[in-house]
Amino acid sequence: MVNPRNGAAGSLRQLDPRLTAQRPLSLFCYSLGWVDGSWQPETHTEVLEHFRRWGLRVNQEVKLAQNLDACWRYVTSLLAHREALGYEIDGAVIKVDSLDQQRRLGNVTRKPRWAIAFKFPAEEATTTLQGVEFQVGRTGAITPVAKLEPVFVGGVTVSNATLHNMDEVARLRIRIGDTVMVRRAGDVIPQVVAVIESKRLKGARKVKLPTNCPSCGSAIVTIDDEAVARCSAGPNFCSAQRKEGLKHFASRLAMDIEGLGDKLMEQLVETGRVNQAADLYRLTKDELIALERMGSKSADNLLGALEASKDTTYGRFIYALGIREVGETTAHNLANAFIDLDELMDASQDVLESVPDVGPVVAARIQEFFSDSDNRNMVMELRKAGVRWAAPVQTDAPKPLRGQTWVLTGKLEAMSREETKAKLIALGAKVAGSVSAKTDQVVAGPAAGSKLTKAEELGIPVMDEAALLVLLAEHEAD
Ligand SMILES: [Zn+2]
Repeated sequence: MVNPRNGAAGSLRQLDPRLTAQRPLSLFCYSLGWVDGSWQPETHTEVLEHFRRWGLRVNQEVKLAQNLDACWRYVTSLLAHREALGYEIDGAVIKVDSLDQQRRLGNVTRKPRWAIAFKFPAEEATTTLQGVEFQVGRTGAITPVAKLEPVFVGGVTVSNATLHNMDEVARLRIRIGDTVMVRRAGDVIPQVVAVIESKRLKGARKVKLPTNCPSCGSAIVTIDDEAVARCSAGPNFCSAQRKEGLKHFASRLAMDIEGLGDKLMEQLVETGRVNQAADLYRLTKDELIALERMGSKSADNLLGALEASKDTTYGRFIYALGIREVGETTAHNLANAFIDLDELMDASQDVLESVPDVGPVVAARIQEFFSDSDNRNMVMELRKAGVRWAAPVQTDAPKPLRGQTWVLTGKLEAMSREETKAKLIALGAKVAGSVSAKTDQVVAGPAAGSKLTKAEELGIPVMDEAALLVLLAEHEAD
């Protein structure tokens, strides 16, 4: 909702109360109108405590501050977790706690002297769309980016906002020259949330997807019904993709190379010093000092950070490779499921799909990635350059099913298939999708079909779910 206050007011003004009842409205009680009887509260805090006791909703963020510094700490901390509240706020009100003091301070016209609003920066503002630029991501995805007349919103000046993809451009019906509403909340990337069509000027131009990649000139393609348009070339040909891939490699959740920000990476790529990830580890001090704004000390720091980043974890390394669809969580799941990188690189589709979080599409992307000899070379070069990680920690208990391949078939009743897979993987097993001579154990539930028949033909041990539960319980008890 663009304006929750108007939305709530409009809901209450409905002539038909049944319409109002359908709206998911809620409130926090914050003030007292009139007290009749023996209860004479002395402080605002006491009023709110009574509200709570009576079962009225009172905002949990309310705090009693003892002095001005405490008020300041309160508003800054509220501003910092504004996004996590689950509802929108535009500021905080600071009130004198003593009701007697409130009465003595009184009001000026209708404004109380005992309360003051601390306004937070607006999270939405209107501005003009000056143009749309198309950026190329590390997977070749083409993202339309709104170039805006600079506007102060969410506490910063914003001149770019993402438009996500062409479907979003169509949904917003946005045209160049339009007056648009921009939102920037917390650390979230600024977004264009609406177009004010009533303010559209004559000659506002439609936004068109370019036919060629702005970086390498290759054709832009939109595959099947993916919303995303992509550069049809690979990262080895398209320098924008390569650059973005390298930024990802160095990023905090990946190799975490401190001090190697986007601007510096762009310089390194544009000056031809870095073409692939392993080149980073071959940079010399002389090469770094030759860069713009790079002193001797910063060069030393960067070389130190590069050296330090070589000591990484297996999960971070997989994430850093930038395999499409493999986010941080999936990367760590893969690291848990495969003893070493060679095993991961050669894993079959079935084995990959047995990893939590990995479906057919992700499994195919992983296979595609490692079947490319350039990618395998990159891995080899990085290891040669000294990138290393500790062998996967043998968690408390040794993995009793390590090296075994299990197959699940038929209906499982006590646990979901995903849960069962995850438990088996945690014990070191691989869970495959089909039975072969390499299968060690089959778990068959009711209505098991051809997989069970095949297991019986091959003489592979079969257990039912009850037996599996006993086995899992035994291992959990270890
Ligand atoms: Zn390209």
